[in-house]
Amino acid sequence: MADKTVENNLPFPWNLGVFDAHCHPTDTMTSISDIPHMNATALTVMSTRGEDQELVDEVAKRLGDYHQELKQGNGKIVPCFGWHPWFAHQIRVEADEEATSKTETTEAIKIQHYRNALTGSMGNEEEDNHFFNTLPTPKPLSVLLEETKTRLSAHPNALVGEVGLDKAFRLPMPWQEEELEFRDAGLTSGSREGRKLSPYRVTIAHQKALLKAQLQLAGQLRRAVSVHSVQGHGAVLEVFQELWKGHERKVESSRQRKKRVDEEKIEREAEQDVDGSGQETELTPLPYPPRICMHSYSGSPEAVRQLLRPSVPSDVYFSFSTVINFTGPSVKWVQTSLESLPDERILIESDLHTAGKRMDDLLEEVVRTVCRVKGWSLEDGTRILAENWRRCIYTVATPEY
Ligand SMILES: [Zn+2]
Repeated sequence: MADKTVENNLPFPWNLGVFDAHCHPTDTMTSISDIPHMNATALTVMSTRGEDQELVDEVAKRLGDYHQELKQGNGKIVPCFGWHPWFAHQIRVEADEEATSKTETTEAIKIQHYRNALTGSMGNEEEDNHFFNTLPTPKPLSVLLEETKTRLSAHPNALVGEVGLDKAFRLPMPWQEEELEFRDAGLTSGSREGRKLSPYRVTIAHQKALLKAQLQLAGQLRRAVSVHSVQGHGAVLEVFQELWKGHERKVESSRQRKKRVDEEKIEREAEQDVDGSGQETELTPLPYPPRICMHSYSGSPEAVRQLLRPSVPSDVYFSFSTVINFTGPSVKWVQTSLESLPDERILIESDLHTAGKRMDDLLEEVVRTVCRVKGWSLEDGTRILAENWRRCIYTVATPEY
């Protein structure tokens, strides 16, 4: 057990490598130029909606993908492409297509789509239709998946994210003209930005269909995923279990596990052509994502146990942020699940919407907190967390980067 007071005063070991497992710097594009000056080694940058997919792609191209295994560790970005549950209604899943197939006009299809995908009402049909009309024309799921696949293929180390389920979320009301006047033009559009909430929620069936399709894409391309889950841990587990069914892992001895990890490493290196032979091998697609990061995790210790069952074929990691996990009423709860988690499945994140000093500060704070709760020395803990991140993103951990 490390001495707390001494540990708290130690200078922070940035040189060991500190990785933000989940953040949204493209929400504030003016902060992107701060990234090269940050202490953090690399940022796992999420996309969430129509407005930020291109931005994440562009930032990764500008600042460089962090290719640890290719020893091109000069890039700072691991781009992630996914559609967040808060924007799930903007996607037309198959069930809506069936429901709207008898309707002819685009306008009518749009109204019918929102009628299916949303629950809640303003109280009468006219007001509901008026609200639905302020929403964008939905994008077919097949188009979204094609676009995401193209972006993932352009970035061989990219993840699928941010995806997930959210039972608490309600759609914001449309912008009022007077609000638009005072809107911060430096923020990437599309998010709530303090607007009042409407009575409409996206049905869980709709959210599940979108989540499942994106998890399947991650499996197909053997990418890790970053998953958001708010009041929906049971439903998220149901979606995972649908994909895991029939593929459960036989309980492995530690020797068997090492053998599998070594084999995965060889496969991965072949895919990335690390030996320079010019031969690239495609990894065999999987019906489920190989690695899952549960971001800003707030599930119960029982939910953690379910996700860590030896039969689960995905490696599930749990990521913690200061803002969501270590402030407010959930602190005790989080400490209990953090204490019970195996060392090798813990990640840290800022979950912040602006890059720069505050992001570094939050990362330092959460590393220090996790080390304290786990009884790790600051150096050991920083090393463990860095290695966990590499293993989650790239399958294998290597001692140097
Ligand atoms: Zn997020």
